[in-house]
Amino acid sequence: MSVDSLRGHVWNDPDVPLLMDVFPRVTRGVAGILADMDEPDLAAQLLRQQFHGRCDCRPGCRFILTAPPGSSGSGMLWLEMSGDVVGEVSLDPRGEFVTNFDIGGCEALGVPPNWLDVVAPTSVPRRVDEQ
Ligand SMILES: [Zn+2]
Repeated sequence: MSVDSLRGHVWNDPDVPLLMDVFPRVTRGVAGILADMDEPDLAAQLLRQQFHGRCDCRPGCRFILTAPPGSSGSGMLWLEMSGDVVGEVSLDPRGEFVTNFDIGGCEALGVPPNWLDVVAPTSVPRRVDEQ
């Protein structure tokens, strides 16, 4: 799969909701941290990416997918605020966009610790206007 086709899939799947629509506060928070970490391109793209459900690698995994499963390469970044690690992101093989992330430091981002519980563990929520 070429990066271009992956990109199209990541950003244009009409059946997948935007991250910003599902987790506006967390998405803005992570994008802000990325921008502060001198990753403005990753930050800008995250705001346009879609929510592909939760990682189901093991029970209790708290990563959420910002690209289809299997999109990650070996690269990752720790998310740091004022020197504290508050989460981590995985990147695609070329390091051009975030494929999933986890937030450990919810207080630092101003989100409730149960922010993930608004969605079922591995499902992508249906859009209200499709029901
Ligand atoms: Zn996982």
